[in-house]
Amino acid sequence: MLELQGLTRRYGTEVALDDVSLTVREDEYLTLLGPSGSGKSTLLRVIAGLEAPDAGRVLLDGRDVTGLPTHRRGLGIVQQTYALFPHMSVFENVAFGLRFREVAPVTDAAEVTRRVAAMLDLVGLSGLESRAPGQLSGGQKQRVSLARTLVAEPRLCLLDEPLGALDANLRERMTVELRRIRRALGVTFLHVTGNEAEALAMGDRMIVLDRGRALAVAPPAEIFARPADMRVARFLNAWNLLPGRGGADGFEVETPAGPLRLPAPAPAERAATYGVPYDAAWISRDDAPPRPGEAAMPARFVASEFLGSRVLYLLRRGDGKVFEVERHLSREAPESYALDETLAVRWRVADVGLFDEAGLRIPVPDPAGALA
Ligand code: ADP
Ligand code: MG
Repeated sequence: MLELQGLTRRYGTEVALDDVSLTVREDEYLTLLGPSGSGKSTLLRVIAGLEAPDAGRVLLDGRDVTGLPTHRRGLGIVQQTYALFPHMSVFENVAFGLRFREVAPVTDAAEVTRRVAAMLDLVGLSGLESRAPGQLSGGQKQRVSLARTLVAEPRLCLLDEPLGALDANLRERMTVELRRIRRALGVTFLHVTGNEAEALAMGDRMIVLDRGRALAVAPPAEIFARPADMRVARFLNAWNLLPGRGGADGFEVETPAGPLRLPAPAPAERAATYGVPYDAAWISRDDAPPRPGEAAMPARFVASEFLGSRVLYLLRRGDGKVFEVERHLSREAPESYALDETLAVRWRVADVGLFDEAGLRIPVPDPAGALA
């Protein structure tokens, strides 16, 4: 439904968007993840028509809308700051979106009441119609803001870090809510977030943006399991990355933490970064050599952290850097270790990601036939 072709936007010498091309599908939840300053908001503003690109085109349903003003694009925007009208009630704030929308504004009072009530019900605010924004919590204000945008029935809704101002508990609840609301309405969401857990939990597909470039566009599970670029792996906060060099025999990468085994020969004597996903590794107390198909490394216990359904174990590698292991409590009970206890971390070599000097993933074939 939305197609971006080679969008570039500069501020002076700064390139905020660098040749971004991608397609947003009908009825999908697309998340846009990137560090602060990577161009996320600029991209949304260009799509919304709040800003013009220096190069490239925006197409909505095949129609070039690059020069079209915002209010004629038929899309909705939800910002991090709620921008509610403080002197209007919740009902009036939401009704505003309906009465003053560009296409077919609704003026019939009974119809406005009916639609606003349905929307407030959908976002879980029934009963709060007559409250003023000042009498609402942050999460409730965000829901009003969402309701006001969605009541106008946009086909595409742009959300710029809409949960950024909420506390962690509320964010998690709203994550589930947003998915439900989106599905109920069949509206397409393009949701900007700086939070990798959010991007993973919400999106049907996700885009990773780095310095104005779209590095990856794929379902989150795919991006997490097989990031095409080391920078993506780094933003995801889910990979141990050990820089090194391909060993002479090609079956190992020499890293500061020791040699690490590969499933198949990689380019020998070349710089390579060895990546192990946090949740692909496990911890053992024995120092047995790795079994076939596995790799191992000694490490000392530093700390563990409970994250609801998961435990994150922090260990110290031989070179002093941190190695993280994430275990799901649905699969095993949490283990306690003594501070500085010597342990081994192990992982299957098939789960390893290998990246070249430029940070691009090196395909490593699995000798057993399956892809690594
Ligand atoms: P994000 O939303 O990912 O944090 P932005 O899109 O806001 O990133 O910004 C991308 C880059 O463009 C940043 O380096 C920022 O400083 C720059 N930038 C954004 N808006 C402006 C502006 N109005 N004037 C000058 N530079 C800007
Ligand atoms: Mg931003």
